[in-house]
Amino acid sequence: MKLNIVQVGEPVLRKRARDLSPEEIRSKTIQNLIEQMKVTMREAPGVGLAAPQIGEPLQLAVIEDPPQYLQDMPDEALKERERAAIPFHVIINPQLSIIDAGPVEFFEGCLSLSGFTAIVPRARGVEVKCLNERAEPVVIRARGWYARILQHEIDHLYGTIYIDRMNTRTFMSLNNYAAHWSDKGIDEALAALNRR
Ligand code: ZN
Repeated sequence: MKLNIVQVGEPVLRKRARDLSPEEIRSKTIQNLIEQMKVTMREAPGVGLAAPQIGEPLQLAVIEDPPQYLQDMPDEALKERERAAIPFHVIINPQLSIIDAGPVEFFEGCLSLSGFTAIVPRARGVEVKCLNERAEPVVIRARGWYARILQHEIDHLYGTIYIDRMNTRTFMSLNNYAAHWSDKGIDEALAALNRR
């Protein structure tokens, strides 16, 4: 079943989500929720979905960047973003630390801010300690686009949205991004949008 993705302004998006116990993680309720979040993320489509985005204030997110999302992107764009396919997985009760502060700047969007995008600076490399869907401890080391996805999703679990971190003058509709900025380099877009 596909779940409803809440939009910015919904109070749950601004709350710190609560931790899940190992017993809860293994429960039918949470296992079903994970399955439904997977379906919802794929249908959106998106590369990550945090529980607060479907109205549940829980420290849980699903992530997947499947090969078919990358196949139409130029190699240059993938290389620049350090973006590669990521299999489906679940992060629960994550603790994030920065390994390489960067920052790296790219346009980023969010399923809870439907139709918009902005340039968001992010750390280039992170380490995440979390539990998986079997409540087993996992350590993830990520860089590039995967590190960006992890930062974006874990922010959601603490009530933070990309607009809190964006370069505010680069905020725009996806239509205008496609019309004016998608074919330009990030440095060019940053310079043009920040010129006064
Ligand atoms: Zn988001």
